[in-house]
Amino acid sequence: MDEIKKIPDLSAEEKDNARRVLWEKAKAGALSCKGCSLSATRTNVVFGDGSERSKLLLIGEGPGADEDQQGLPFVGRAGQLLTQILTAGGIDRKDVYITNIVKCRPPENRIPTPEEMIICDQHLQTQIMLIDPALIILLGNTPTRWILKTNEGITKIRGKWFEWRGKAVMPMFHPSYLLRNASSKEGSPKHLTWIDIQEVKRSWDIVRETGNLSHIKFG
Ligand code: SF4
Repeated sequence: MDEIKKIPDLSAEEKDNARRVLWEKAKAGALSCKGCSLSATRTNVVFGDGSERSKLLLIGEGPGADEDQQGLPFVGRAGQLLTQILTAGGIDRKDVYITNIVKCRPPENRIPTPEEMIICDQHLQTQIMLIDPALIILLGNTPTRWILKTNEGITKIRGKWFEWRGKAVMPMFHPSYLLRNASSKEGSPKHLTWIDIQEVKRSWDIVRETGNLSHIKFG
């Protein structure tokens, strides 16, 4: 019987090159996507922004008007607040990756329909596979319900870690909700978000140091 030849594994550099090629292909595919009706009303596809190799991924609902105009996620008022929250927690925005469930703006900033989310999920899942984050933050109810398949409201489950496909996932308030709830007193959404972002930073530091999630308490 012929001996089965052992094919050598790809080197780290070859894997990285392959990943980069796949990322560019996925991005080009999304930028020209006409998979759902949101393609008819968008100005730009908002693929995402930040470090494509980050161990920390943030997922929002969908682009708003400013994001649609600029082709970048979280650049309007809510986005500026998100940047402030990250900075206050000691996280540089350029060191994480930020994207949304749907990549095109739903008209009048309505919640994306289940059909739109189902169709657009191919782009999000490809991003998650290629970025391979250890920690995922879900901003608001829509991404929380979509990823975790839960009916629990954000107020009840924010700040908790959930296990999802070998990753640690935490729902947090969406920054636009914080804009509508300005109080910073104890127990307010802003105060709770401050607690959450500190936990995210603490866990992110440990993941970067140890490469694993063993320190995380789920649920
Ligand atoms: S929202 Fe997603 S599926 Fe719909 S057109 Fe945009 S990129 Fe394609």
